[in-house]
Amino acid sequence: MAKLYFRYGAMGSSKTANAIMVRYNYYERGQNALMLKPRLETRDGEKTVRSRVGLEAPCRYVEELDSIDVTQYDCLIVDEAQFLTRDQVQKLVDIVDNQNVPVVAYGLRADFQGNLFEGSKWLMAWADTIEEVKTVCWCGRKATCNARIANGKVIKTGEQIMLGGNESYVALCRRHWAEGKLGE
Ligand SMILES: [Zn+2]
Repeated sequence: MAKLYFRYGAMGSSKTANAIMVRYNYYERGQNALMLKPRLETRDGEKTVRSRVGLEAPCRYVEELDSIDVTQYDCLIVDEAQFLTRDQVQKLVDIVDNQNVPVVAYGLRADFQGNLFEGSKWLMAWADTIEEVKTVCWCGRKATCNARIANGKVIKTGEQIMLGGNESYVALCRRHWAEGKLGE
């Protein structure tokens, strides 16, 4: 029985690197894993997923799933899964249950304001297995929150998804995220 996995973590927790390694592990075993991401996420350019440590892999868009024969793959891997819609998560559930192809989705749990992302909400609700990809705050505690940074300061207002801006993100523990504290 195939399963739907949701692996969530804060910014900088190596989710994309992890996703690329999973794809490579299938390849090493002579199997075929398909990398996917929602079309919305365009910072990596056309049909590529790229990790902060420099690994990259080709991918297709989740929006293309209807025209892909998923049964020719041993696994589907979804990066940036927080951006999925409810319908897209439902489609992944159907692939797992009806085509018996496992799906491993990687994404952020909550946005910079602490609200669940749509895709993460439904993955939390429906995944067979939910696992945390951990990273640490500057203070050494586990980082579970994502702070949006502009001009060196933590900002708490704005759109959930801001593409093409000059903002950056950093993972903080809940306390330092609440305080907006980026270091000693
Ligand atoms: Zn901290």
